[in-house]
Amino acid sequence: MTRLANLDGRAVLVFGDRALDVFEAGGFGPDPMDVLSQWPAFTEWARSVVPAGSPYDPALLGPPVPRPRQVFAVALNYPPHAAEAGFEPPSDPLVFTKFPTCIAGPDETVELPGDRVDWEVELVAVIGRGGHRIGADRALSHVAGYMVGQDLSERRVQMLGEPPQFSLAKSFPGFGPIGPHLVTEVAPDASITCLLGEEVVQKASVADMIFGVPSLVARLSAVCPLLPGDLIFTGTPAGVGNRRTPPRYLTTDDVLTSRIDGLGELRTRFR
Ligand code: ZN
Repeated sequence: MTRLANLDGRAVLVFGDRALDVFEAGGFGPDPMDVLSQWPAFTEWARSVVPAGSPYDPALLGPPVPRPRQVFAVALNYPPHAAEAGFEPPSDPLVFTKFPTCIAGPDETVELPGDRVDWEVELVAVIGRGGHRIGADRALSHVAGYMVGQDLSERRVQMLGEPPQFSLAKSFPGFGPIGPHLVTEVAPDASITCLLGEEVVQKASVADMIFGVPSLVARLSAVCPLLPGDLIFTGTPAGVGNRRTPPRYLTTDDVLTSRIDGLGELRTRFR
């Protein structure tokens, strides 16, 4: 299993508490986007690397994929979340975009643009090898790996019109924290958790998704050619703030922790 991270703008392999500079050790990068564009050759090299490197400061970790060209996101992909939002589980994925300027690192302070900002912990899949019209049976060979993601959402902007709109409301600066590392494997039944302070507000298994990653890659690439470094936010489980009674939104006093077993966690603060 390979763990790729962005340490102060440079691609590193992470081994426990040590980081190995990918450009110095293997000649890939140093920009993480360049590593992704050479993904098949990079992974072949990375599998042969003997764990090494130096202790590093996790506060210097940036988004493992800092400048994705396309960021797909899927709504209502867990049946209990579809139910809390008042919908039947969809028969086809409901897709929107998070505009790529919203991407942020695993430990950041995000400006709240209003008083209706909500949390959505999500599994994020990263495209390694691009392709168009990828079959579901081959889809995973196009996936570089997985990260934890937060699909932060400003519900007032989302609900401005009828029907609601997703992309703008979910694209303020900092609204797409990802990381802490890009990991090449995730357990099919990994648990996915979101905590507000100490309180668990979302908890599910990624196995509960209606459309799994292979199906999403096939359905998205049936329309859009997928490019190295593209992200797929795969949807959030039940437990978002605007469906609570009374509704609960993020404040400057909150610390939001987003966690997936085996992938690590994001810590997001607000100002
Ligand atoms: Zn979402």
